[in-house]
Amino acid sequence: MGKAELVVDAKANLGEGPVWDEKEQCLYWVNITEPSIHRYDPATGADSKVLTDQFVGAAVRRESGGFIAAMKDGIYILNEQGKRLKFLGDPESDLPQNRFNDGKCDRLGRFWAGTMSMNGGKKMGALYRVDPDGAITKVLEDISLSNGLAWSPDWQLFYYIDTPTKEVWAFDYSEEEGRLSNQRVVYSFKEGDGVPDGMTIDAEGMLWVAHWGGYKVSRIDPHQGVVLEEIRVPAKQVTSCTFGGSNLDELYITTARGGLDADELNQYPHAGGVFRVKLAVRGIRSYSFKG
Ligand code: ZN
Repeated sequence: MGKAELVVDAKANLGEGPVWDEKEQCLYWVNITEPSIHRYDPATGADSKVLTDQFVGAAVRRESGGFIAAMKDGIYILNEQGKRLKFLGDPESDLPQNRFNDGKCDRLGRFWAGTMSMNGGKKMGALYRVDPDGAITKVLEDISLSNGLAWSPDWQLFYYIDTPTKEVWAFDYSEEEGRLSNQRVVYSFKEGDGVPDGMTIDAEGMLWVAHWGGYKVSRIDPHQGVVLEEIRVPAKQVTSCTFGGSNLDELYITTARGGLDADELNQYPHAGGVFRVKLAVRGIRSYSFKG
């Protein structure tokens, strides 16, 4: 089993949403509940942050600067300082107990992000697609806790995690329309492995899934439904991962500190940090929002 090393001792309550920026060669990630957007520069080792005015489930760079952000009360365009420039909409304004969670851009520059109930309500959330013109479309409903998303390297499949199901799903993906069909289960988490949170995909089409409550990231073959490799993380709540580095062969892993008891914090003092491990496989690059 590989082992991840600490790169940012952030002690984040809920570190999430890592995205590698190719242009800047740095990692963006969020601390959802602080709430803040962080930028880690591996060249200097510095991690800087800007604060946002509401929970930020995911923040992705815009091609024209700043961020598109999936927040507590909807989708916003933020400037470099994390301040609101534009409100794109809140498809769940009738559900004040919901907030946005994980999100990611596809290669056409559309932003995908889903929601969750903050009081544990089941199937109260959904997954949405935000087009560059700002239009927000619901693509999946009856979601409890929207999390990891990834597209296959040939853009024919979409993988998705609704955490409480403990399953990783695949869909046929029609790229031009941005639609999903033919939902099926490609992997189910085993007892004692925690639950699936964020994920990414490598150039061989294998998924890298973060184990919330499971101290690890697994490399899963979605075609065979088997685990190929595991990366041990010295933190219980492993939230998400993405490939970065100049060769896209370093896996960056975010974690959370919230909800751990004193014993767990003693044993894993770097919980809430950002970790990194060098791998033998390369990842798929990240994309920015085109709107
Ligand atoms: Zn997550």
